[in-house]
Amino acid sequence: MRYSEMFLPTVKETPSDAEVVSHKLMLRAGMLRKLAGGIYSYLPLGYRAIRKVENIVREEMNRAGAQEVFLPAVQPSELWKESGRWNMYGKELLRLRDRHNRDYCIGPTHEEVITALVRDEIQTYRQLPRNLYQIQTKFRDEIRPRFGIMRSREFGMKDAYSFDVDETGAEVSYRKMFDAYNKIFRRCGFNFRAVEADSGSIGGSYSHEFMVIAATGEDAMVFCSACKYAANLEKAEIARPEKVAVDESEFATLEEVYTPDVRTIEEVCEFLDVSPQEVIKTLIFLCDDKPVAALIRGDEEINEIKLKNCLGCDSIELATEDIISEVTQSPRGFAGPIGIKCDVVADYSLINMKNFVVGGNKENYHIKGCNTGRDVKIRDFADLRIMKETDTCPRCGGEINFARGIEVGHVFKLGTKYSKAMNATFLDKDGAEKHMIMGCYGIGIGRTVAACIEQNNDKDGIVWPMPIAPYHVIITPVNINDEGLSKTAEDIYRKLEEKGIEVILDDRDERAGVKFKDADLIGIPLRITIGARSLAEGKVEIKSRKSGEIEAVPVEKVEDLICQRVREELKRHRG
Ligand code: ATP
Ligand code: MG
Repeated sequence: MRYSEMFLPTVKETPSDAEVVSHKLMLRAGMLRKLAGGIYSYLPLGYRAIRKVENIVREEMNRAGAQEVFLPAVQPSELWKESGRWNMYGKELLRLRDRHNRDYCIGPTHEEVITALVRDEIQTYRQLPRNLYQIQTKFRDEIRPRFGIMRSREFGMKDAYSFDVDETGAEVSYRKMFDAYNKIFRRCGFNFRAVEADSGSIGGSYSHEFMVIAATGEDAMVFCSACKYAANLEKAEIARPEKVAVDESEFATLEEVYTPDVRTIEEVCEFLDVSPQEVIKTLIFLCDDKPVAALIRGDEEINEIKLKNCLGCDSIELATEDIISEVTQSPRGFAGPIGIKCDVVADYSLINMKNFVVGGNKENYHIKGCNTGRDVKIRDFADLRIMKETDTCPRCGGEINFARGIEVGHVFKLGTKYSKAMNATFLDKDGAEKHMIMGCYGIGIGRTVAACIEQNNDKDGIVWPMPIAPYHVIITPVNINDEGLSKTAEDIYRKLEEKGIEVILDDRDERAGVKFKDADLIGIPLRITIGARSLAEGKVEIKSRKSGEIEAVPVEKVEDLICQRVREELKRHRG
């Protein structure tokens, strides 16, 4: 492509409304423009990068035996009512109504549509397993769209859905996708990890997120320095501590203490001269409309996702003042487990605690000398807290590292959640009617491109890895008014195009400095500079965007060298 003919509006100034480097660079490099909050247009350079990712995804999905379909973006509400998500999904679901007053949504995901399709078309075990995928636009009315296409409202996703006859088959399908995702993200040149992720009440270790390591990542993750354990922080497990034998003679007698206006852990510690490790926080939650008290040591933080999974409820939120006073008979700040009028669950951190301080369920009172077993009836002890730096690996006891990541992909074992709700059955070998076992697998296409830039940039701009680069090479004649330079440039351009190399010829009548700056900004991996001095010796220069290395090569060799470099780089990522 000739630069002079390209629609490539690069910008010198850093845009003020962009927070992360990928968003800034995508705007500056003329890849992207905002239409409305969280809704973007891809310009030619941006769209080429998108297509590169799509093609890598497509190749690996096909290789893994998945088949491409293309499902409607607009979905009738009836399907969502069948699955129960029309009410569950909340405000992220963009709903619309047609001229006949029928309700629809713009698909934020496609479990309903695919389940309905497969339910109607597949009848027997002979037609299974199947894995169907699409690359399509989704809409989620995100509460806070940000970071450009990293978290937008309209975005491209590859979503795949597998259907199997049994658990064993579903496990095989899941593994295939897990392996394909590893290949995809390796080919994108990422430093990434697959981490165990929360899979809600469906349970098991059946959900993994693929995280690109980046300081700006929205997700916190942990990984063990000794074994392979890696998890999203919200899922990171804490091993159940051994229970140390207790001598009940050491139990103190309960003592109610007047603690006027003392509510927070810090205030309690100061007032009673104890450490947070000796105090228990009693947090009241509303779990599917039922109040539950969760107990945790004063210095720990509750993990609401773990609590939700432990209780097996659909929704969880901190209880309001009304509920608190109903179950504790006191205002907020004095809740305690003794005599509380709701179920009580306790974090493992309580297992070996003795004689601790709790709220008194009475305004301005706390209680000292509390002991579980004797004073409090605990429904369950469970892992309910957020892992912290001092914790160790739940698998091997090794040291745990914390990092931030960008979730680019997610593989998820759905089980029979949708096939049961929507009655997707098949006739098995034994003649029995069974529900299909499903899995779903997503990759954010735009987020992958953005994550790639987060990991590959410098002060001058983007540094594309070859497989995602919108073009492999840019040819920069330093002065197009010099006939010799211009002719050589045209010549190399034509030859490289013939060889299938994706190349830009910067044929603009601009100063060399301007051209170099743009080439660096848009991040093309290889630049061929054609200047009078080296051409007089029959040479041109090849510059690597990544290493900055410049190499003078004979004109007649440049074509072969470039082809070789491009192929090598693409192959290296393929692994
Ligand atoms: P997140 O926790 O980041 O909101 P999610 O769990 O809602 O993600 P999934 O429903 O698993 O995401 O969607 C599959 C993939 O789609 C994600 O791994 C991510 O790459 C991408 N994705 C999800 N939401 C967005 C968004 N708002 N903008 C861009 N990509 C997104
Ligand atoms: Mg989301």
